[in-house]
Amino acid sequence: MDFSKRKAGTKSVWAGELERFPYGSHTVPITNTVTFAYDDIDEWYEVAKGNQKGDIYSRNTNPTVQVLEEKVRILEKAEAVTSFSTGMAAISNTLFALLKPGDRVVSVKDTYGGTSRIFLEYLPKINVEVTLCETTDFEQIEEEISKGCNLVYLETPTNPTLKIIDLERIAKAAKKAGAITVTDNTFASPINQNPLELGVDLVVHSGTKYLNGHSDTLCGFLCGSKELVKEVFKYREINGASLHPETAYMVIRGIKTLELRVERQNENAMAVARFLKSHPKVNDVFYPGLDSHPGHDIASKQMRGFGGVLSFSLKGDYESVKTLLHNLSLVHLAASLGSVSTLAGPPRTTSHVELTEEQRKQLGIPETLIRYSVGIENKEDLIEDLEQALKLI
Ligand SMILES: *Cc1c(COP(=O)(O)O)cnc(C)c1O
Repeated sequence: MDFSKRKAGTKSVWAGELERFPYGSHTVPITNTVTFAYDDIDEWYEVAKGNQKGDIYSRNTNPTVQVLEEKVRILEKAEAVTSFSTGMAAISNTLFALLKPGDRVVSVKDTYGGTSRIFLEYLPKINVEVTLCETTDFEQIEEEISKGCNLVYLETPTNPTLKIIDLERIAKAAKKAGAITVTDNTFASPINQNPLELGVDLVVHSGTKYLNGHSDTLCGFLCGSKELVKEVFKYREINGASLHPETAYMVIRGIKTLELRVERQNENAMAVARFLKSHPKVNDVFYPGLDSHPGHDIASKQMRGFGGVLSFSLKGDYESVKTLLHNLSLVHLAASLGSVSTLAGPPRTTSHVELTEEQRKQLGIPETLIRYSVGIENKEDLIEDLEQALKLI
């Protein structure tokens, strides 16, 4: 089927599921096997050489995992895809497979915490130079790229203040310098943004968030050209951070409602952001859907929806943050995002706890900031919940 003419909701249900499954099963069978048996060792050899379709060992490929990979590939409009046990596995495998000593990476200061650790701690160990630019200073990023680099690593929107990077602009600069552009598309999800269409070479996902959507399992993906994905896949085969077929099944089930969930979350987040924006006890609201957000114009250009995560700072001090969070009832106080239920937490004592107050200030993270990842609940209930808790401050 030519999926390019289909919409995302159709893709996530049908991609990878067009052929009949064994026993005529309506749902994807979970192929719980480590190894695959052959009657004929010549056929086994042909599969091993890649001349014939088939599976040999589940660390490398597995039919259940492949159904999920196909859905993500089609949703991201990519030529090729591979999957991983976690989002960090997708990111670290991509970086370590594609970089070699002497290479240079240009990235930004606001990448996901784990990614940032790779840049600051682990890549320098193998003599890869990393330059981290101000996330929204595109001129600085372009200038650093033009000095020569092998890989440009981006993420947009970022955590926790939803900074927006102009993907088309930076990808263009990277192409000119002969560098590969990789972007983390976790916060947007393929429903809201397809970076490959904007000139980016590789997209990584923590599928743990929106793609699975239920906060009950971890997974990661890499999408892009056959050539680049194959490079990383070869590394993953021996690195071993493969996705388990049972986990893949859970994500297959979750991803079928991706469009429904994300559209709802876009709508909920916009309503919550507007409510908070007009509330006297709220200092600032960070949501790219608001036209007061500095990244609003670029986000409107490159995204179809603004996502389910927003953050806001309170007037007052950290005690106000505690009062608010402890009095919300429709929220789990927890890390992560993109779940069907609303999750919230203060970056000061969670994701950005290891930074000093000064470092947080430099990243534009107010001490009274609350990150709020909306679920698929009813928006009126979420707003009512916030309203009663704000009254108690
Ligand atoms: C959660 C997250 C990751 C890491 O994913 P895991 O599945 O937890 O390993 C990477 N990037 C972003 C933007 C994330 O939110």
